[in-house]
Amino acid sequence: MKMPKVTHRYCPWCNKATEQKIESYKSGGKRGSLTHGSIARARKRGQGRGVGNRGKWGSKPAISKFKRTGAKSSKKTTLQYVCKVCGKALQQYKGFRAKKVEFI
Ligand SMILES: [Zn+2]
Repeated sequence: MKMPKVTHRYCPWCNKATEQKIESYKSGGKRGSLTHGSIARARKRGQGRGVGNRGKWGSKPAISKFKRTGAKSSKKTTLQYVCKVCGKALQQYKGFRAKKVEFI
């Protein structure tokens, strides 16, 4: 899908519509399977309970219950709108599915 590089939309910091640059948002990194946070996250998701580490958390990387990688050919977009006036960035509220996003 082709997207414009610049758009005119509302900025909550400037409290008015301003020129904003559209770019794809890059998250910090992948979640580690061996971190303490990953176990806490698994607990919240209803996993990682019971006796022992269930072969998931320890010296070996996590074994995924779902092996459906590549089931979908498109990914949801995460766009970032950077205000040209104040320089602050706002993330896209709701992503849409697209195979490829091009900025023209
Ligand atoms: Zn602004």
